[in-house]
Amino acid sequence: MQTNFTLAQLADPETARSEHILRKCVHCGFCTATCPTFVLLGDERDSPRGRIYFIKSMLEGDRAPTASEVKHVDRCLSCLSCMTTCPSGVHYMHLVDHGRHHIEERFKRPLPDRLMRGLLAWLMPRPALFRWTMMLGRLAKPLATMLPAGSADPGGATFLHRLRAMLEAVPDRLAGPSPVDRPQTFPALGLRRKRVALMPGCGQQVLAPEVNEATVRLLTRHDIEVVNVAGSGCCGSSVLHVGRNDEAMALARRNIAAWMREIDGAGLDAIVINASGCGTTVKDYGAMFANDPEWRERAEQVARLAKDVSEVMLEIGLANVTARPLTVAYHSACSMQHGQKVIEQPKKLLRDAGFVVKDVPEGHLCCGWAGTYQVLQPELSRRLRDRKVANIESLGPDVIAAGNFGCIGNIASGTGIPIAHTVELLDWATGGPKPAALQ
Ligand code: SF4
Ligand code: SF4
Repeated sequence: MQTNFTLAQLADPETARSEHILRKCVHCGFCTATCPTFVLLGDERDSPRGRIYFIKSMLEGDRAPTASEVKHVDRCLSCLSCMTTCPSGVHYMHLVDHGRHHIEERFKRPLPDRLMRGLLAWLMPRPALFRWTMMLGRLAKPLATMLPAGSADPGGATFLHRLRAMLEAVPDRLAGPSPVDRPQTFPALGLRRKRVALMPGCGQQVLAPEVNEATVRLLTRHDIEVVNVAGSGCCGSSVLHVGRNDEAMALARRNIAAWMREIDGAGLDAIVINASGCGTTVKDYGAMFANDPEWRERAEQVARLAKDVSEVMLEIGLANVTARPLTVAYHSACSMQHGQKVIEQPKKLLRDAGFVVKDVPEGHLCCGWAGTYQVLQPELSRRLRDRKVANIESLGPDVIAAGNFGCIGNIASGTGIPIAHTVELLDWATGGPKPAALQ
């Protein structure tokens, strides 16, 4: 694609990177067919190619985006299905992150929209505050039915639509803080084979504390020492996806500093991540700090060590398996399959654990969770969830597995089939407790 940036514009490293990305796009449109919003809406402006044109235009023009451009970029899930499909290697993730940052800096959203996005960006990285908000949300949840359910314009949600989606997303039961999520070291049960840091995350600690608990049991049982490093926490993706790049980088720096202390101290073989959305972001820390001479090297070192828990477990191999003869529909989260390209490892482990594993039809399409998307674009999110659930139910599985807590909560809200994190099933098959969803 031809571009028309001035030399002064290209002096900005973020613009230079976007120009490089844009020049790779050959307008072929292959990506449209696998884009969930294009599949739903059939509008070129809601396809990757359409969004690429919008972002190119606003960046080249060095101007505020129009309301229409913002609407179509906002509808993007950041599922990265387009990156898997693109034959030209267009790095859409970096481009849309730049586009969102530009929108955040140059476009004045209506006040309710700003308040909602500001609230989400403030709460999501702070587990303690997020937990209190969830507890208040449980009290207010019965009021959700009094709020408007959906917008006639898909993706044209108002503040009240979003408030309803936010209340509906509040879980009916909320576990207390897990002792696992405090900084500490969990020794390997046998002779130590690896020493890893477990990324504690943020929202998962509140909504699914059982995932870190199962991960610690699974890893230590396989002779891996696990450290929950003081100072590590939110990866920054929840604020990055609403265009707040500076806040995302501040969170990333905190993690990098914390893990580097550990790397330079007792050493780490890997940084284990069990929420694939966070994994995609941490693996990209090197690119995030590519233009920062002070942090670049450390960011690259951390990114190289970042691994999904399934990658580490496949290296080690499962031991002492008690086969569980259940049929598992494996939902590959977008961030797992498109973001990290971790595709076969979780399925291989589940098969090694004795499960019968089935792929979900239309598995490349997002389930509609996509972080804050579930709240900010409730109508599109619900349609994608319902489509995902119908595809899963067509398999008639005993249980659904996924490697991202957000997908798990979202899919669970639309089906009666039990759903668990992949590590919970692996933990159960190797001596841990039965996942709560199956009891
Ligand atoms: S990231 Fe997903 S929703 Fe966004 S343009 Fe690409 S395929 Fe479409
Ligand atoms: S598939 Fe790649 S090259 Fe083709 S239009 Fe989409 S982003 Fe551009």
